[in-house]
Amino acid sequence: MSFPSLYDPFDGMCFNSHSCFLCGAAITPDDVTPVFPNWLMKQYNFADKQLLLLDKSIITYRELTIPCCSHCRENYVAPLESKIEMALQEGVTGFRKLDEKDLFLWLTKMFYGILVRELLNEMNPLIKPEHAVGENPKMFLKFQSLFKLLQALRVPIVFDDFEPASIFILEVDATEDDTPFEYRDELSTMMFSIKLGPVAIVACLLDNGIVKKALRPVWEDIKDKKLHPIQMAEFTARAYYAGYLLNIIPEYFERRPKTGEEYLIYDTLVDDITMDVFNPWEHTAYAKLLEEMWRKWNITYGDILKNPREPQSYIYDETGIFRETIRLSE
Ligand SMILES: [Zn+2]
Repeated sequence: MSFPSLYDPFDGMCFNSHSCFLCGAAITPDDVTPVFPNWLMKQYNFADKQLLLLDKSIITYRELTIPCCSHCRENYVAPLESKIEMALQEGVTGFRKLDEKDLFLWLTKMFYGILVRELLNEMNPLIKPEHAVGENPKMFLKFQSLFKLLQALRVPIVFDDFEPASIFILEVDATEDDTPFEYRDELSTMMFSIKLGPVAIVACLLDNGIVKKALRPVWEDIKDKKLHPIQMAEFTARAYYAGYLLNIIPEYFERRPKTGEEYLIYDTLVDDITMDVFNPWEHTAYAKLLEEMWRKWNITYGDILKNPREPQSYIYDETGIFRETIRLSE
């Protein structure tokens, strides 16, 4: 068996309906795989719900598919999907037991799938999106790096001494919860979060674990707690804001092991070490993001910054202690 070579669709921008997203093989437009797996759409009943893409087109989740050859579908995508499906049956415990690389690849496949759909729409000359994702050089580099990591879904690749992403697995208190499934993504910052019943996953998919390091003090306080959804939303805001402030773009370089074994090793480098890793935190910008995450509780930007030096928190009380019980004023 010959060792599969890496595929890079960004080299020549091969985004079309007749190339497999993962290996580049020629396929027919009927060869697709859903971005959100069928079992997930079935379990949370959202296949026919609609979503809005950047170009303002509306499609259903069922229609959100990416070009994929049958070989990649059967040998790489399906086995990963069944691992995750099994993990979900055990809730948070199941997800915590997963190999982090599998979880990373699963999240990245969905994030990347949405991105590819956006890119395919951009290639359509009749559609002119406001922010063309393929035309921003910084985003282009990020997507290319992320795709290189995603190749680990089909090519045996060992990440040498680094975790490519920051992944947080949170437990949400089911008795307080009325939204079994939700997801959010932000293409420019590589942030992706998804909630599956009591399991909430928040991830920065391309940061070599830097966001996780920065958020460690908060993470230590909440990682073993059952969170109220408003606390989960606050943590999500903190993570998304950290992702927004992050200044660096990791790059990955492949090498073959000396022994000639059939796998690749990735090393990583961070592009520009002369810059600060994070831009400075600003309460006003954070509060805007938090207002968005707290929208369903009708908490406004003004409420959040009543004390301009200390944005409102439901994770911590006034003395900086974790809030075990949440009382929401009506
Ligand atoms: Zn393929």
